[in-house]
Amino acid sequence: MFQKVKGFQDTYGDDCACWEKAESIMRDTFALFLVREIRLPILEKTAVFNRGIGQTTDIVEKEMFTFADRDRADSEGELLSLRPEGTAGTVRAYIENGLYNPPGIKKLYYSGPMFRREKPQKGRYRQFSQCGAEFIGSSSPLADADAINLLITYFDRVNISRFTHLEINSVGCPLCRPEYHSKLTGYFNKHKDGLCADCNRRLTKNPLRILDCKNENCGKIIKNASVMLDSLCPECAEHFESVKMYLDALNVKYIINPFMVRGLDYYVRTAFEVVTAELGAASAVGGGGRYDGLVETLGGPAVPGVGFAIGMDRVVALMKLSEEFKQTPPKAFIVTFGGKVKNSEIALLNRLRAQNIPVEIDYDGKGMKSQLKQADRTGAKYAVIAGEEEMNRGAVMLRNLSSSTQEEVSIADLILKIGNNHPFNFL
Ligand code: AMP
Repeated sequence: MFQKVKGFQDTYGDDCACWEKAESIMRDTFALFLVREIRLPILEKTAVFNRGIGQTTDIVEKEMFTFADRDRADSEGELLSLRPEGTAGTVRAYIENGLYNPPGIKKLYYSGPMFRREKPQKGRYRQFSQCGAEFIGSSSPLADADAINLLITYFDRVNISRFTHLEINSVGCPLCRPEYHSKLTGYFNKHKDGLCADCNRRLTKNPLRILDCKNENCGKIIKNASVMLDSLCPECAEHFESVKMYLDALNVKYIINPFMVRGLDYYVRTAFEVVTAELGAASAVGGGGRYDGLVETLGGPAVPGVGFAIGMDRVVALMKLSEEFKQTPPKAFIVTFGGKVKNSEIALLNRLRAQNIPVEIDYDGKGMKSQLKQADRTGAKYAVIAGEEEMNRGAVMLRNLSSSTQEEVSIADLILKIGNNHPFNFL
């Protein structure tokens, strides 16, 4: 017997009912904000992620599923990676397809599987699902606030807002960040011995990453480090003030977390995360920020952007905390007379389906008792007993499986009844 690969999951049964709801509300909410879908490849050239996400991020350093493309005979093969996130691919597609023409904002969303070779644990998988929106083409703080508003509206609609809160921060821009970097480097260098091995490495590569460390000892040192919010240039400070003002106007509640840095290098100015205390170490349910240099970095024009990604596995986990999800049962189960299923019974099946009524039938011609048991198990409200005599009269026996009462009805009435279109309940 084979087992699935570590960190990957099978999803089936009633869990799928929750996923379907999460995804259909997701599409409705994006539609409300006029964010249009973009369908992207799952595989991209590794360089897209190296360049887009940043060489010093955990994702690029150690988490990508990367392999050489063996179709290329001319060299050892170009490196390809399963996408670990959606923004780099969206921006690659935006540039490649010239979506910056005509100029103006493009609001795009993607959804689907992402892959990161992380240490699997509760809420953290190697294949997980994200949906994300990218607002490309505006540097206005209103774009940041409305993107955040979309994220929060979605959490409201899937009814998980009471488990989450929004944290925001500004991580500055290439003008003001270098000075802050050197301030941080100076401070952490003084406390080098107290920092974990990872943070010592981060100290030379990207000191900002240290602020994200969950190690307890590092936490004590981080607590007294200076924060980016105190080092913002006037433009970044004004931008952040405006984001907050627009969030207030949109009635979006937030907490300012000056220590929040996101795990990807492309963010400038606004960074945000939606956090929960319900899922243990997997505390982030979604997050994003502004990425004004990214389109240019990936070879496109200088177009600003802001976006976010939602971790759908965690959304589903939160939805299941307070609601039970069930797959839709059949409206009715056609009980045949045993033996080979008759053409008249098959015709009835077809006729009900043509009316858009999901009905079940036993293909194997088991005995009537066993079929009734089976009907009960499917959760169907009715059994339709297609006796030959009744069928000859254009009728069937309709049995209410919960009250165990039954009566003969014409097939026309049957359709009205089990299609839930009948004005009164006669059983
Ligand atoms: P990120 O792109 O890292 O900001 O991730 C955005 C969201 O995706 C996070 O807030 C999580 O909810 C979710 N996420 C990230 N990594 C994983 C993972 N390994 N397993 C499940 N969900 C994840």
